[in-house]
Amino acid sequence: MSQQQNLAPLFPSRLPNVGTTVFTVMSALATEHQAINLGQGFPDFPCDPNLITSVTEAMLANHNQYPPMVGISELRAGISQKINNLYQHHYDPDTEVTITAGGTQGILTAILACVSPGDEVVIIEPAYDSYRPSIELAGGKVIAVSLQAVRDDHGQVSSYEIPWDALKNAINSKTRLLMINSPHNPTGMVWNRADLDRLALLVKDTSTLILSDEVYEHMVYDGARHHSVASHPDLAARSFLISSFGKTYHVTGWKVGYVAAPAALTKEFRKVHQFNVFTVNTPMQYGLASYLADKTHYLNLPQFYQAKRDFFRAGLANTGFKLLPTPGTYFQCVDYSKLNTPQAKLNEADFCQWLTKEIGVAAIPVSAFYEKATESGVIRFCFAKQEKTLATALERLQQI
Ligand code: GLN
Repeated sequence: MSQQQNLAPLFPSRLPNVGTTVFTVMSALATEHQAINLGQGFPDFPCDPNLITSVTEAMLANHNQYPPMVGISELRAGISQKINNLYQHHYDPDTEVTITAGGTQGILTAILACVSPGDEVVIIEPAYDSYRPSIELAGGKVIAVSLQAVRDDHGQVSSYEIPWDALKNAINSKTRLLMINSPHNPTGMVWNRADLDRLALLVKDTSTLILSDEVYEHMVYDGARHHSVASHPDLAARSFLISSFGKTYHVTGWKVGYVAAPAALTKEFRKVHQFNVFTVNTPMQYGLASYLADKTHYLNLPQFYQAKRDFFRAGLANTGFKLLPTPGTYFQCVDYSKLNTPQAKLNEADFCQWLTKEIGVAAIPVSAFYEKATESGVIRFCFAKQEKTLATALERLQQI
């Protein structure tokens, strides 16, 4: 065995600083210690059985061969219609909408399609962990700016603000792409209309494209609405809009998402897409297409998740954690640095290990969303769980 391994020629790693993603690591640790997994973001409840019926019917109707490279026309038309209804922007389903194997593939493909070696790409940290390696695989240079943590009188994080000055300084003639994410994973922060206006001004007269990761678009709470780049004509004209069915329909394992972008961007996107995955599984596309016309599901989603958020927050209020605001996503961040336990001094990764092994609840360290060790004493819980799962987790968390 080891002899055979030695026969493989050595080669320089394309991603020397990358290990296994924190989501996989924490899910494995949760399983090993029978902890409640509030780490990796996925629902523990089933999707609508009608959606499964639609997919099954598609398989029985023999929709089992390759679909068109860009995705089936019914699904692209449905997406175009939906975006038009929600954000009043028309994407041509034939030339501007492409079905992807989830949001992450859409992001990597968009980056590979437009970033050339030496180009700069601006990201805002904490940033989803796939962004940086995707840019590096394209040979791009990551320019990271940080969300500004606003702290209260006790030094605890109370909210985050977009670092406009740092963004302004980061953008220059080499900036090919600026990546944004609202609602934001992991902080839950959401961009408002004024933010989009300000962003449009910032990139006006530059050659910077925008990649807007909006996979949590239907999880915005307290009566607020999601502000998509599609709703802003100046931004839509230079943006790759990424979204995902996994988050919206409780089917993260299906790995189906889409990218909407102006025809010129989509043309380049599809050149990479066809050699990246070629296309995405057929029956799921038919199932989702027949389901998409029903607006009730996604229109009710904010209410559905807000109830879970409020239940979880109410339970956490009895613990020593300081709760950060959660205007969007299905993530709740908490500050543990003032807990009355020696573990409050641990770094975020070690704290999450301890919480998983000793308290029986897995979480994600927010430091995993930064390149350089950035410790703010904040961890992320996922509340996309059945009430009984959340209740058991809360019971365990009461002891700290
Ligand atoms: N997006 C999910 C999260 O933030 C994880 C997806 C994954 O495991 N790659 O938890």
